[in-house]
Amino acid sequence: MDIVTHALSGVMLASLMPETTPEQKAIIVLGSVLPDISFSKAYFLIAKKAKKSVFKLNLDDFTKYGSIVKPKIKSYLFFHSFIFLLALLIVGFLFSNIFLFLSLGWGLHLFYDLLLHKYKEEELRPKPFYPFKKSWDIGLTNAWMLKPRHFLIMWFNHLVIIFMLTIK
Ligand SMILES: [Zn+2]
Repeated sequence: MDIVTHALSGVMLASLMPETTPEQKAIIVLGSVLPDISFSKAYFLIAKKAKKSVFKLNLDDFTKYGSIVKPKIKSYLFFHSFIFLLALLIVGFLFSNIFLFLSLGWGLHLFYDLLLHKYKEEELRPKPFYPFKKSWDIGLTNAWMLKPRHFLIMWFNHLVIIFMLTIK
């Protein structure tokens, strides 16, 4: 899913927790965008290969040129694994609750991606327990197929919910 939707989902989650401090809210939002950061360069590499803007990439470009970013897919799977999330939670319980707030946003990101990454090809499906190879097919749709207007609707919906959660 795109970074704006992930960030807005983090704001939405933070809005559900009015007793948290602004710093803790910021960490939740940070957690909701961080899982994709290591992979973000891959989008630009694919765009360069496909000779188009990163905003115009579609599912075909991803399947056609995905192999050039294969080394990056490993780090993508690593940061999108519930095993990594579990490690974050353990660090949070043992050392600092900063990591607990980070893992809240992180968990929400993984949940969104599971539902929005539907693929016919088994090797492209989410592997929520990476490095274990088992893939899951519980996606409802594939975010690569969404049109700009779908993103606008999604952002708008999140903003409405955030507004409803924050008005006094
Ligand atoms: Zn992601």
